[in-house]
Amino acid sequence: MFEKKENKPKGKSLNLTSLSELGEFGLIDRLTKTVNLYHPETRKGIGDDAAVIDAGGQMILLSTDLLIEGVHFDLTYTPLKHLGYKAAVVNISDIAAMNGIPKQITVSIGVSSRFSAQALDELYAGINLACKKYKVDLVGGDTSSSVKGLIISISIIGMGKQEEIIYRNGAKPGDLLCVTGDLGSAYMGLLILEGEKKVFQVNPDMQPELTGFDYQIGRQLKPEARTDIRNLLQGIGIKPTSMIDISDGLASEILHICKQSGVGCKLFEEKIPIEEQTRELAIEYKIIPSVTALSGGEDYELLFTIQQSDYEKIKDVEGITIIGHITQPSDGTFMITPDGKSVQITAQGWDGMKNKTETL
Ligand code: ADP
Ligand code: MG
Repeated sequence: MFEKKENKPKGKSLNLTSLSELGEFGLIDRLTKTVNLYHPETRKGIGDDAAVIDAGGQMILLSTDLLIEGVHFDLTYTPLKHLGYKAAVVNISDIAAMNGIPKQITVSIGVSSRFSAQALDELYAGINLACKKYKVDLVGGDTSSSVKGLIISISIIGMGKQEEIIYRNGAKPGDLLCVTGDLGSAYMGLLILEGEKKVFQVNPDMQPELTGFDYQIGRQLKPEARTDIRNLLQGIGIKPTSMIDISDGLASEILHICKQSGVGCKLFEEKIPIEEQTRELAIEYKIIPSVTALSGGEDYELLFTIQQSDYEKIKDVEGITIIGHITQPSDGTFMITPDGKSVQITAQGWDGMKNKTETL
């Protein structure tokens, strides 16, 4: 038996590593570095938007996401129907990022007694709506009580032919860096919602001032997955060399592609597509507009690289923007500002700008 005294943690002398020191990706690396793969069918394990499993010709794609109240969503301004829709969409987006077709999801929830059955009906109405829109079957899940708040975990299965699957690690020097849609609006939507919440907390009689910002708020509360890009690119005869979805912000996703492909990049700040009102709002909020795209996240657009020889095929495609190119690894990962300065691309840590690390 140990004496109580000896059992006591000795603070600094234990030399414990804090999670904020490691960051999300440092922690994942640390936890998974001893993972072994035992099955030859497991073509890709940890490290991409989805795992890839060879099912005898067809590839099965598998991904999972966890959403926790107070960390990933705030129910004071998130309708449960929207939350259900978004929870499904973020998983569907990971399958789109592998160039696969989403097929089935499972939904697991942990709920505290604060929630009524009607509230959870709303959550499922949103999930069902996403299933209908993206033709995905809800095939199972798990239900548990939680001590506090709502927890939602969705797993997804997608499929694709072996030669169609696109990984994060295929980018080569000279490739063009492309994005779909526009970026940063989901983050501005979040700032508007958070701002109105603060006003409401100070004066509960105030009505939220949300009109006029439908685009930004819509991008935050009800994002869509770019499952259309697979057909669009196939139609013009382009197969990206690498691809990832933009969940954490453009900077973080570019660095994932560069690190996993063993390459550098040159990103041109003025090429980053940002919707006009979002640009104006950012300036009003005293944020450099490109930062909403680089660090904001949750746009669920796709970032991909293509061979330079495909330039003619893509240059006039509406809704796709070439924002830079891939370089030799020794050239580093840089953004060129409009006045020609080179700035090292850095990713915000754990949930970066949302400053929610204290909830871990
Ligand atoms: P995404 O942004 O596409 O959802 P993540 O950044 O969450 O991907 O995860 C990166 C990779 O690490 C993925 O392959 C994911 O499956 C894996 N991963 C994340 N957390 C864990 C964990 N706790 N244990 C094992 N693998 C994990
Ligand atoms: Mg992803």
